[in-house]
Amino acid sequence: MKAEPGAEFALIGAHFAGLGAAREDVLLGVGDDCALLRVPPGQSLAVSLDTLVAGVHFFPDCDPHALGHKTLAVSLSDLAAMGAEPAWATLALTLPESDPAWLAAFAAGLGELARAHGVRLVGGDTTRGPLTITLQLQGLVPPEAALRRDGACAGDCIWVSGTLGDAALALAELQAGRDPDAALRARLERPTPRVALGRALRGIASAAIDLSDGLVADLGHVLAASGVGAELRLDALPLGEAVAARTDWSLALAGGDDYELCFCASPGRDGEILALGQRLGCRLTPIGTIRGDDDALRCLLPDGTELNPTRRGYDHFAGV
Ligand code: ADP
Ligand code: MG
Repeated sequence: MKAEPGAEFALIGAHFAGLGAAREDVLLGVGDDCALLRVPPGQSLAVSLDTLVAGVHFFPDCDPHALGHKTLAVSLSDLAAMGAEPAWATLALTLPESDPAWLAAFAAGLGELARAHGVRLVGGDTTRGPLTITLQLQGLVPPEAALRRDGACAGDCIWVSGTLGDAALALAELQAGRDPDAALRARLERPTPRVALGRALRGIASAAIDLSDGLVADLGHVLAASGVGAELRLDALPLGEAVAARTDWSLALAGGDDYELCFCASPGRDGEILALGQRLGCRLTPIGTIRGDDDALRCLLPDGTELNPTRRGYDHFAGV
């Protein structure tokens, strides 16, 4: 059932019309039956959609400004992993009630990140029901330049950006009733999508994916799509101080919500990649090698023996 029409349009007009960056390629935005967008010749549309459900993806009482940020950040991360430039978003909001303060904070969090990445909110849908947020993000990438999952080759070096496991540790702390410090908490609630990195990896990376479900699960998708295996050196994994102090590999290997990029590239590109990390101020770490002799993902402990990860990342339908 729809919210009462007058109130629904007032809500959209007050909080979502005109949100984000001004773009000349938006011929028609919020307010008509469809948005009209101009796609430049030679570019393909990169389209990604994510849903956040209260109680599943976020605590229902979480800070609405951070939630607005995260709603867009998770989709920006998908476009980053494709090497695409973000452009236009649509937003489906299902709300239990119309709370102007909550909506203003949510829209501000979303709008700030949208402006930072040149994204315009061009439409959406607003309904009443249990709090659920779906954002579709569209971006542009020449089809031949897109960073797909199926291009990893034997001998490629495997890289990750940033540090791993921070978001999972912050979540574990919150679930245990403790308060993670602000920096750790921000890694869970306000992730930084690696958009500039993804764009710069065009022509360098052979394959890429963003880490939303955990390194083993997400790298596993690259391996399956590319028909290869891999060896990871666990002592090479980039860990923040708090995660390193835990000596729990599952945080870095199976923890979700990091939104870092994992990509593969020929070892001949190492110098370029390190220079790129310096230029972007983004830590880039080689963590292993793609193997062509079998399709397993082997995780080598510092003593050279193999770890068998038991938790393989978050799966909504595991055991269902
Ligand atoms: P329709 O009945 O044609 O589906 P709606 O009444 O759902 O149109 O929406 C009216 C206009 O407001 C449309 O342009 C739609 O894209 C936009 N809109 C609705 N909800 C949102 C939202 N949450 N964020 C941004 N735009 C929205
Ligand atoms: Mg509608």
